[in-house]
Amino acid sequence: MPKEILPATYACDCGFVAQFTEDEVKETKARSRDLASKQWLVSGEGLAKHLVMFETGKWLTILCPNSTKKPPAKSRERCSGLQGRYLAFIHQYTQLHGVAPAESDLQSFFKTSPPTIHQMVLTLERKGFIARTPGQARSLRVLVPADELPPLR
Ligand SMILES: [Zn+2]
Repeated sequence: MPKEILPATYACDCGFVAQFTEDEVKETKARSRDLASKQWLVSGEGLAKHLVMFETGKWLTILCPNSTKKPPAKSRERCSGLQGRYLAFIHQYTQLHGVAPAESDLQSFFKTSPPTIHQMVLTLERKGFIARTPGQARSLRVLVPADELPPLR
């Protein structure tokens, strides 16, 4: 079982140790509580990339690339150019404002029509890139790890 060694240090079963600053962990925990969704910090590069998951303000587990239980990352489709920009925008907006953007915010940023925005949201949701709560405004959540998102220009 993965272990929390120190408040900001986590040990994986495979021997990998993920280290963060206490502030990074504190912020991610707070975000997981405030957004009521899973949040994670990434440690390691390439094949050693580990995701340290947090939920409801607490450390949850470590997703290990060496684990036999594959995280969804492998089967997940890569997000294409425009879709990636939408994801990056939703992510950055949420970071900045503490709430997800409304479809009208997407519309003014991408300068396109409401039906186009709505179709894009549905597409991103169908592909598993985002989740949302139907009927609830500003409930978009990006499910793609932040470091897989393209830079937002
Ligand atoms: Zn591991």
